[in-house]
Amino acid sequence: MKISHEFRKEIMKFFEESKLNMCYQCGKCSSFCPVFWLYPEKFNPRKIIEMASIGIEEVIRKPDIWRCTTCYECVENCPQKVSFVELIYALRNLSIKKGFAPKEAIDEFESIKKYGFIMTATDRIKKVRETLGIDSDIEDKKELIEKILAKTGGEK
Ligand code: SF4
Ligand code: SF4
Repeated sequence: MKISHEFRKEIMKFFEESKLNMCYQCGKCSSFCPVFWLYPEKFNPRKIIEMASIGIEEVIRKPDIWRCTTCYECVENCPQKVSFVELIYALRNLSIKKGFAPKEAIDEFESIKKYGFIMTATDRIKKVRETLGIDSDIEDKKELIEKILAKTGGEK
């Protein structure tokens, strides 16, 4: 595994260095994480923070960073207030930018950019909407969403 100072600097564009430096690897984030309980060999928040802190770029190539459900249990219980979820967002952003993100994540991102939803309505959902008298067409909101992203800096 290669340690890269440049990669560490790239993380800092999205995540405060001081927060990362606060982590003392106690592992409390992992011990409170429901995903870690289920798949300790596939997802370990403490290890992800360790890799990010050292500057190991491999961390954004791994599928692990996409397994976090952003439930915030780790954030609530971190004695150092590191905010692991913000770090996950930073790593996911870098993963997308560098073309390492899984296709499913890219599809969801594109769907949000176009429709404002993580996924479009399936035929079954359309039918249910029709039954309830709700318009079954999902409107293309690309223009509006682009404006929102531009104003909020969401494109970053
Ligand atoms: S992020 Fe917080 S809880 Fe997790 S290892 Fe670091 S200090 Fe401990
Ligand atoms: S936010 Fe992610 S890492 Fe933290 S406890 Fe929830 S699933 Fe685990």
